[in-house]
Amino acid sequence: MKAVAIVGKKKTGKTTLGLALAQYFTDKGLKVGVVKHSHHGFDEEEGTDTQQYKQIASCVAAYSPSQSFVSWNKEKPLQDLLPLLDADVIIMEGGNMLGWMPRFITVREDNDDKDFFPELALAQIPACTKDNPPSSNEIERLAQLVMEKGFLLPGLNCKACGRESCKDFAADINSGKARPEGCKATSGRMDVTCNGLPLALNPFVSDILSAGISAMLSQLKGYAPGDLKITIKSGS
Ligand code: SF4
Repeated sequence: MKAVAIVGKKKTGKTTLGLALAQYFTDKGLKVGVVKHSHHGFDEEEGTDTQQYKQIASCVAAYSPSQSFVSWNKEKPLQDLLPLLDADVIIMEGGNMLGWMPRFITVREDNDDKDFFPELALAQIPACTKDNPPSSNEIERLAQLVMEKGFLLPGLNCKACGRESCKDFAADINSGKARPEGCKATSGRMDVTCNGLPLALNPFVSDILSAGISAMLSQLKGYAPGDLKITIKSGS
């Protein structure tokens, strides 16, 4: 999966850029998932049915022939939300402190990026507006950067790659010193998928689980060393 964040100060055109990129990828036939991070919650129309339920319930889900959504009245870890998106490309608007993916930094001045982890930047983008958006050539250039260099780390900060955090590893990927496949949490002895989507596993947990399961199964008739596949069906 390709992923990129768009970060920058207020009113530097993050949404304008995000919308243009989302449109570009969609026109290319890719499924785009957008994540928006906000420190202040999200504006919603007062008095709608779902808004009234949301004021009382901890979680509201809605579905119709044209759209579906789930809304929680609390912050959820991004790791819990990403598997729901079913996307080829993730565009995250905001989330400056999140160091699991590279980023575009929207800036008003050349040196405006120092608070936005420039070591994770694929590019600095001059501030734009809805009325003065980036050119189509520029959007194509940025989209190609995402396809060539976009990535998503699991965000476990387990240090198994020898870095203090996923952000440090992401910076090394960005500078060409590492590759996303070097993340030990996604390349261990064990692959676990949930509803078809891979789950990141701390290497320690992966080793414990794989050793324990192999030891138990080795007592069964028919066991032979090799790759094992177990499927646990929900509701069974
Ligand atoms: S091994 Fe992967 S999940 Fe763990 S800190 Fe490194 S990049 Fe993050």
